[in-house]
Amino acid sequence: MVVLSQQDLARDAALNTMQFFAQESCGQCTPCRVGTDKAAQLMAAPVWDHDTLDDLGQVMVDASICGLGQAAPNAIRCVQRYFADEVAAGMSNQKESQR
Ligand code: SF4
Repeated sequence: MVVLSQQDLARDAALNTMQFFAQESCGQCTPCRVGTDKAAQLMAAPVWDHDTLDDLGQVMVDASICGLGQAAPNAIRCVQRYFADEVAAGMSNQKESQR
């Protein structure tokens, strides 16, 4: 369980989660090894490239060997579905150096 305050942004939490997945990826399969890192880069941008994130997420779900890579895109999809306003507004509490 992850608890966020009212000052936290879901997109920052999702980026942090993706960066965690990128660090935890064992590297055995390319969709997860490269996909989590690339997704984190895309999610750090002020404006998300939704088409690329959607394509990348689908490849990760379809082609990753284990649950880590298959579930990692959920961080993207949840924010797109439930916190689209944060992404559309380019909101972030993270400093540029942390992205
Ligand atoms: S999906 Fe699983 S097996 Fe593939 S790189 Fe990620 S952690 Fe390793």
